[in-house]
Amino acid sequence: MLAEEFKFIKPGEVRTRMAPSPTGLLHIGGARAALFNYLFAKKNEGSFVLRIEDTDLERSLPEFEKNILESFKWLGIEWDEGPDIEGKYGPYRQSQRTDIYKKYIEKLIAEDKAYYCFCSQQELEAQRQYQMSQGLAPRYSGKCANLDKETVKKYLAEGKATIIRFRVPAKKVSFDDLIRGKLEFDAGLMGDIIIAKDLKSPLYNFAAVVDDFEMKISHVIRGEEHIPNTPKQILMQEALGFSKPSYAHLPLILGPDKTKLSKRHGATSVLEFKKQGYLPEAIINFMAFLGWNPGDEREIYSMSSLVKEFSLEKVQKSGAVFNIKKLDFLNGFYIRQKSIEKLTELCLPYLIEEGLISPFFKEVQYPPAYGAKEIIQKYKISETGEEIYLETIQKIVSIYQERLKKLSEIVELTDFFFKEKLVYNKDLLKWKEMSDKEIKNSLDRLKKLLSKIKIENWNKENLESVLLPEAEKMDPAAQKDRGYLLWPLRVALTGKQASASPFEIAEILAKEKTLKRIKEAKKLL
Ligand code: GLU
Repeated sequence: MLAEEFKFIKPGEVRTRMAPSPTGLLHIGGARAALFNYLFAKKNEGSFVLRIEDTDLERSLPEFEKNILESFKWLGIEWDEGPDIEGKYGPYRQSQRTDIYKKYIEKLIAEDKAYYCFCSQQELEAQRQYQMSQGLAPRYSGKCANLDKETVKKYLAEGKATIIRFRVPAKKVSFDDLIRGKLEFDAGLMGDIIIAKDLKSPLYNFAAVVDDFEMKISHVIRGEEHIPNTPKQILMQEALGFSKPSYAHLPLILGPDKTKLSKRHGATSVLEFKKQGYLPEAIINFMAFLGWNPGDEREIYSMSSLVKEFSLEKVQKSGAVFNIKKLDFLNGFYIRQKSIEKLTELCLPYLIEEGLISPFFKEVQYPPAYGAKEIIQKYKISETGEEIYLETIQKIVSIYQERLKKLSEIVELTDFFFKEKLVYNKDLLKWKEMSDKEIKNSLDRLKKLLSKIKIENWNKENLESVLLPEAEKMDPAAQKDRGYLLWPLRVALTGKQASASPFEIAEILAKEKTLKRIKEAKKLL
């Protein structure tokens, strides 16, 4: 822990916040910032606040707020205070705090630290273009900075369109960023900034300053894109006589081409990752490494181990590359840690959504002596209407647990279990140089061997012990290549180039369906 971090703060008094604007879906950048704030607060036994920054009334929509809250909840990033959890410093939605902002805007105006500006949009735009054409950074000319009180009064009484500007002092502003060290800015280059459209409509920089103070935020941890806002916010804190929080700006998240991660890179919202079948544990573990690492080789971290080990000192300055392969690797890892029951529960929605199976409820009446009824969740195969036991679906999921990288892949991998008829090209049945006749021969052999196995012996061990020795005999070159029997079997059962072992599949399909599929395969030749 840097000494600087706790200059005024006792452990336990750390308060961080996540302050999303509900103007879009929550993306990885916002979720990563929330995670780092959460980890820092929890590590220091502090509090994590969720504040909805909806000052932009036109662009803020309730559905985005819903998406943001749902995303955090799904990820397990839980706040101690927020719009839905009462706290000492609420309300936690900026649109409900206008009176608080108004009080401070009036104070700044009364002290002549802010003023009404009556320049029209057109005028400001023309000025901006002119400055740019001169190779100058655009900034406000200061035209309304010194209007006399009478004129201001008159314009306001006339209802002349106005905004409120903060008088930016021409001085150097610096702060010690907990990640990047000392940063210095020349406020003289900024021009007087707009802090509110009117007394009741503050803009982001001003509202954030007021709230960070009022909500006793000790550490502001946010993306690097906010660095230019920090000196502005510090100047306002000084003007208002507020204490200053510590700042930490997180490195940019970059796409594989090392440019800022964006939609171009296929960046999706957090809930889109969920839909694609990523697990929250994997996303959390992955996001932690977008800018932080423990300084050694360890790369598997649960939320609780992150809380223990996280520190801002180990956050890097340079951009963090978003590597989807790493996310897939982590997701596969966490999928393999799941119990089959849990994994099946997670996969079921994908199978249902695809229309392969459908859930229904069945009332089971126990014998009258028990007098009880039970409503049981059941599943049926959509195409055939036959009931399928949850245990069977669990078996199906279990043979693919090792291969699954995303839950959604369960559909593509296992759909053949739920189809009445498989559609595939007959060439797929061919192992090496096999002729149609040879394939037919193999399928006949399979039919003969499998027909003899009794239903009670129909399990993968037994199937294996019957078929393996026979498979070795089928190789015309006497090299014991089992593919001559097992490849056509696998394809007949799945219609796919790759799958789990044919013995495991045949066991789940059961005898009747296995033989039926062999028969169908023969028809293709
Ligand atoms: N509402 C701002 C945003 O969504 C928050 C910035 C901050 O953390 O100060 O970018």
